[in-house]
Amino acid sequence: MDIQDIHSLFLECSSLSIDTRKIEKDSIFFAIKGDNFDANTFAKEALDLGALFVIIDNENYYIDNRTILVQNSLETLQELAKFHRAYLGLPIVALTGSNGKTTTKELINAVLSKKFITKATIGNLNNHIGVPLTLLSFTKETEIGIVEMGANHQKEIEFLCEIAQPDFGYITNFGKAHLEGFGGVEGVIAGKSEMYHYLRAKEKMAFVNLEDPIQIEKSSGIKAFTFGIKRDNADLDIITVQANPFVEIDFKEFSVKSHLIGLYNANNINAAAAIGRYFEVNDLDIKEALENYIPANNRSQLMHKGSNEIILDAYNANPSSMAVAITNFVQLDKENKIMILGDMFELGAESAQEHKAIVDSVLKESNVRSYFVGKAFYENKISSSEILFFETFDFFKDFLQTAKFENNTILIKGSRGMALERALDFL
Ligand code: ATP
Ligand code: MG
Repeated sequence: MDIQDIHSLFLECSSLSIDTRKIEKDSIFFAIKGDNFDANTFAKEALDLGALFVIIDNENYYIDNRTILVQNSLETLQELAKFHRAYLGLPIVALTGSNGKTTTKELINAVLSKKFITKATIGNLNNHIGVPLTLLSFTKETEIGIVEMGANHQKEIEFLCEIAQPDFGYITNFGKAHLEGFGGVEGVIAGKSEMYHYLRAKEKMAFVNLEDPIQIEKSSGIKAFTFGIKRDNADLDIITVQANPFVEIDFKEFSVKSHLIGLYNANNINAAAAIGRYFEVNDLDIKEALENYIPANNRSQLMHKGSNEIILDAYNANPSSMAVAITNFVQLDKENKIMILGDMFELGAESAQEHKAIVDSVLKESNVRSYFVGKAFYENKISSSEILFFETFDFFKDFLQTAKFENNTILIKGSRGMALERALDFL
């Protein structure tokens, strides 16, 4: 059976699933091997649960003519996504970068959905499986698709662009994330720039933030729609940007009071505004979309507990996002500030140095009490009454249970694996 035939079957189905726990009636099920399981073993269950067809890559699990045997189910899923994308022929905006992809994706979707029927990556489904699933969620009704692409090693973005064939691309930033897999910052720049290589080769268009010299350099030769602060030559000129703690932006024609914390989010908002402008969404709709967007999932959320005000940014952390979060917090015009900072994961050989750099930067700040949580930060332990180190979350929890926090402004930030939102229960 070739990919066109599989696509015809796919169109007959109500939806596509790779997980029998979430299977819908009349769907098509792809049995994809994970690290710890072989989904071929679920083929029968998928049919029993109402799937119309099941794609398998192990003949031992063949059941009847509803089972379709292929060489490799994952590769078939990817090929099918590419085929479906070409079949629909809709414009696709893709975005990657070290930080801010999901936030920017949500903002772009909010803006573009004011004028178009859009579909975007759900949550954070941004890898070699998530991107195909996103593309396969697009339908004939979809007018613009928005696709988040994540990567933690070279050639991944090239591969995802090959599948998604985006018409527009945006790279949020080149930061210190996934240094381990990319081989340092230069590796990150090369890896993310694969999107620019694709756009250049296919004569597609990039959105470029003129505040970022690397974006300017690496996107040279690509047709670009640009934005920047006080830059007459930009396609979207921004007049002022400030954050205290929420980001507020004055564009020439309108202003935005967002619900996002941290100046770094200004780039994300500006990108979404620029993309809205390019697609001719009207200014008031752009403003409304950006102002109504409320972040979820522990991404820079402002909340209150008792007498404390908390900036919860416990969704993830890496040296770049940690540094901007700290800078931003230190500048906040508040009294009794406390930072609770957790280890940053996936830094490989650069882990010790990057954790030390963060501790050093915090030591320079006199107006903030800081608590470091995790083994990597603990390596930099110093004795101080203002800065405390806890090797594990459990030790920190013991401390929180006895400490009393009243009338503080508290930043909580760490890698996902640290799950620092657990601290909320004790504040
Ligand atoms: P992931 O790699 O998990 O998909 P992501 O790139 O989608 O992450 P978001 O989930 O949008 O990023 O944001 C995660 C965190 O990154 C935010 O909570 C914030 O701390 C930081 N961040 C967001 N935007 C930027 C930016 N433009 N520059 C630097 N840091 C940012
Ligand atoms: Mg994301």
